[in-house]
Amino acid sequence: NSRWSLRGMTALVTGGTRGIGHAIVEDLAGFGATVHTCSRNEAELTKCLKEWQSKGFVVTGSVCDVSSPTQREKLIQEVGSIFNGKLNIYVNNVGANFRKPTVEYTAEVYSQLMSINLDSAYHLCQLSHPLLKASGMGSIVFISSYAGLVSLGTGSVYAASKAAINQLTKNLACEWAQDNIRSNCVAPGTTKTPLIEHLLRNKQYVDEMMSRTPLKRIAEAQEVSSLVAFLCLPAASYITGQVIAVDGGLTVNGFQ
Ligand code: NDP
Repeated sequence: NSRWSLRGMTALVTGGTRGIGHAIVEDLAGFGATVHTCSRNEAELTKCLKEWQSKGFVVTGSVCDVSSPTQREKLIQEVGSIFNGKLNIYVNNVGANFRKPTVEYTAEVYSQLMSINLDSAYHLCQLSHPLLKASGMGSIVFISSYAGLVSLGTGSVYAASKAAINQLTKNLACEWAQDNIRSNCVAPGTTKTPLIEHLLRNKQYVDEMMSRTPLKRIAEAQEVSSLVAFLCLPAASYITGQVIAVDGGLTVNGFQ
């Protein structure tokens, strides 16, 4: 059933070698998409590409630091030439965080976080727009965070950058609908990935998070990637401009 398949479609997923991005690559490829991904670590990227090849997935990759404007341009040039100028799916997954009280953020760390989380997403959307439009059926999925919806002690810079992504999702949905490009956003809750390994070792943090999470557990990366894949499917063709939390119910829990 073609409504539930990505066969014949092309996808770019940033940061696909670990965590949520890795699960997204596998889900999109599993639904039949041809996927391109990137990360900064060449050895890890090569290892992932080999594993995916042995699983029968069609995945290529580039070494790219998405916080660099010139590397972003190079990445999209590569994607354009590999996919013959047409991209159906762009998943903006890369994100980073340093937790600090607001008064302790230096201007340098502030710009670094904004550059990785917001500037790179904005610029990559601009760069990929012609490719998404040329595909005739484009879909952007941003990965923001529940920290962009409620205050969580993650640090205000990360939270502000993710909230900006939530709004960007809505603006692009309206602006690029005429090009048949949909734009949606998945806001994960606490998810078991290398990014938050250090936090998951902190019993006090985990206990507090669990006490506020109705489902009483942390998400697996696949529980986030399944929504990303759904939003890219033809089955989701009337869904655009939405920010959907995958957070075990945390953001709707008033006080339980
Ligand atoms: P991980 O740190 O586990 O994985 C990040 C991936 O992105 C790796 O493949 C990493 O490879 C790559 N990456 C990181 N920085 C760059 C960069 N500058 N350029 C290119 N690639 C890069 O992160 P998660 O999977 O946990 O997070 C993915 C997204 O989900 C982020 O946007 C994060 O904010 C969001 N999120 C995560 C939550 C969680 O609890 N885990 C909760 C809410 C949101 P390499 O380092 O080798 O470049």
